[in-house]
Amino acid sequence: MPADWSRALAVVAHPDDLEYGAAAAVAEWTDGGREVVYLLASRGEAGIDTLPPEECAPVREREQRASAAVVGVRAVEFLDHRDGVIEYGAALRRDIAAAVRRHRPELVITLNHRDTWGGGRAWNTPDHRAVGRATLDAVADAGNRWIFPELREQGLEPWNGVRWTAVAGSDRPTHAVDAAAGFERAVRSLLEHRSYIEVLTDQEPEAYCRTFLTNAVDAAAERFDGRPAVAFELFAH
Ligand SMILES: [Zn+2]
Repeated sequence: MPADWSRALAVVAHPDDLEYGAAAAVAEWTDGGREVVYLLASRGEAGIDTLPPEECAPVREREQRASAAVVGVRAVEFLDHRDGVIEYGAALRRDIAAAVRRHRPELVITLNHRDTWGGGRAWNTPDHRAVGRATLDAVADAGNRWIFPELREQGLEPWNGVRWTAVAGSDRPTHAVDAAAGFERAVRSLLEHRSYIEVLTDQEPEAYCRTFLTNAVDAAAERFDGRPAVAFELFAH
């Protein structure tokens, strides 16, 4: 994984998307003095069956901020697209491009933008597809002064400095980050999404988080000299 960068912007659809794997790499990066900002397209307000969206949104926002803090991320922003029906399109690309111009990252991180997970056996959600694809596209939008001219009117000048987009959870990983140093914080980071996890599983929450993340980093280890790792598919820009 490239190491010659100082600022990253991670763009995902929901609270917890980064905690199901990528957070161990984020912990490693912030340990090294790098700045990572989280941008969430929604507040995950449709994610808990027993909680209506207006009650769910503040709970999940609070849990996301706490989980980000565990891995050294202080800035967490929300775009307030509607959970479950996030639409790929110019509005989403513009919102993400605005964030790219504002934060000026060299590395952008997102989650699996393809139709399926797990070697094609599990269908991905429309929100993940929309946000992943819009993020990959918004990197170019952010650098073009003629796309979304309204952003320049808001003082957001083009930013051409994104060098890579790293896609977590991809079936086609090309790069990896050693998960050893960040693993325990990744477990605690996922555990911060307690309201969500308690509804999701009957397992004891910490055991659930540890098992899920152990399986994830061990699966990546098969292609990384046997070392537990977080895998990414890297696109160069
Ligand atoms: Zn998600």
